[in-house]
Amino acid sequence: MVDLYMRAINTSLGKTAAKSLGLPSPVRLQRRQRADQPFLSGNALIGAAPGGKAVATLGHILTTSEAHLQHASGADSLGDSSLAGQQFQSLNLIREVYDRFSALVFDATGIENTDQLRALYDFFHPTIRKLGTHGRVLVVGLNPGTCKTTAQAAAQRALEGFVRSLAKEVGNKGATANLIWMAPTSAKQLDSSVRFFLSARSAYVSGQNVSIGRSRLTAQPDRMDLPLAGKFALVTGASRGIGAAIAETLATDGATVIVLDLPATMATLQTVANRVKGHALPCDITDETAPEKIMNFVRKHFPGLDLIVHNAGVTRDKTLGNMPEHFWDITLAVNLAAEENINEALLEQEMIRDNGRIVCVSSISGIAGNFGQTNYATAKCGVIGYVEALAPKLTRHITINAVAPGFIETAMTDAMPLALREAGRRMNSLSQGGLPVDVAETIAWYCHPASTAINGNTVRVCGQSLIGR
Ligand code: NAD
Repeated sequence: MVDLYMRAINTSLGKTAAKSLGLPSPVRLQRRQRADQPFLSGNALIGAAPGGKAVATLGHILTTSEAHLQHASGADSLGDSSLAGQQFQSLNLIREVYDRFSALVFDATGIENTDQLRALYDFFHPTIRKLGTHGRVLVVGLNPGTCKTTAQAAAQRALEGFVRSLAKEVGNKGATANLIWMAPTSAKQLDSSVRFFLSARSAYVSGQNVSIGRSRLTAQPDRMDLPLAGKFALVTGASRGIGAAIAETLATDGATVIVLDLPATMATLQTVANRVKGHALPCDITDETAPEKIMNFVRKHFPGLDLIVHNAGVTRDKTLGNMPEHFWDITLAVNLAAEENINEALLEQEMIRDNGRIVCVSSISGIAGNFGQTNYATAKCGVIGYVEALAPKLTRHITINAVAPGFIETAMTDAMPLALREAGRRMNSLSQGGLPVDVAETIAWYCHPASTAINGNTVRVCGQSLIGR
């Protein structure tokens, strides 16, 4: 799991060689070091197109960071910032911009037509070269589906192309760019997402867009450093790899966790359970008694479940013509059918508590397809369809979302042939593989009590892989 190329390239000799040979030069990403780490420091600049609906909320969230705050002025296409006179210093973009920015935040919700897209150029053109290493770009727009006119819907949709391209331009700095599409009156639901996308927790999430809908609930945790305190979680496939990292991250955020995996993994599963001070549940999720077994275990230990993460997965790769039927059956059973069966039972029995979270683990294979993975891609794409279909049917502020990991450094990817592994690592905007913790942090953001208006999304954790959309 050691990325030797990354190690070599981050020496002074390696840097020189990469530069002269035109090789990718990945920056070692900065991840969260401790639970109470401020979500943002350095210099943050905020700007808005006229009529921005999110700028006041964004400004308020930024004031809770440790960043030095500035708001953009000087260009006609930018709105008068309602932030003037607060803790924000005015920065005229027409004059020279000298500072290095840790974050560039833009409220594009006021953009109503193609002409007004000019505000993107006016804000980012003078500032983007000053985005620092590990910097963050965050654009907030309106969900095109909620727009009143065709021109507005087209302009808001255009933000996606802008952000995806910008993400590719800043990736060589280990920086990311992402887009939040909100519903017209959902600015107060932005909090957990803005904190996530501006922080080290989203180190390997780039070029993504997430939709924030409406919710009457605006829940906030009592302690920002322990957002999941008092929550009870179940993570499947948690004896190793991504599942173990999910259990650890949820526990670090304050949740009490049941870790589940196949009975054959009990020894390592118990080690993970001990590490997270949780409970180990040996169980094959494809067994028809699995839902009942899980519910009995939850009843024994917890008053109910707040968070369930369907992470267990298998691959059985073969081209379709050569694929034995049990390869097809097991892959669909573990990656898709088991999640559906377990959720159905938990929801029917109301075992998932109010403001609960269901998170499924898909894959970029399910989005882009992959040679030799018709079975796996079918299942993982089915996960995305399942999440989208179930989301609007859920009640009591329960949400369901998915993550789609790209190349993550685990035992699974370590077993890949070297050439394929190297290609997987480099073929993304950050030129490196992600770590299990990157997937875990994204899941923890969905699980945050304030993420109640995020429902039915699939966010890729892939460093903006060149594969897929
Ligand atoms: P992994 O093989 O290391 O872990 C998967 C775990 O699921 C294992 O511990 C396994 O014992 C468990 N499991 C398998 N079948 C089970 C069953 N019937 N009942 C209970 N547990 C079962 O894999 P990983 O790399 O940590 O992947 C975790 C998830 O992320 C999977 O869903 C995988 O498809 C997905 N994913 C991984 C990558 C990657 O690059 N590693 C990329 C995309 C998606």
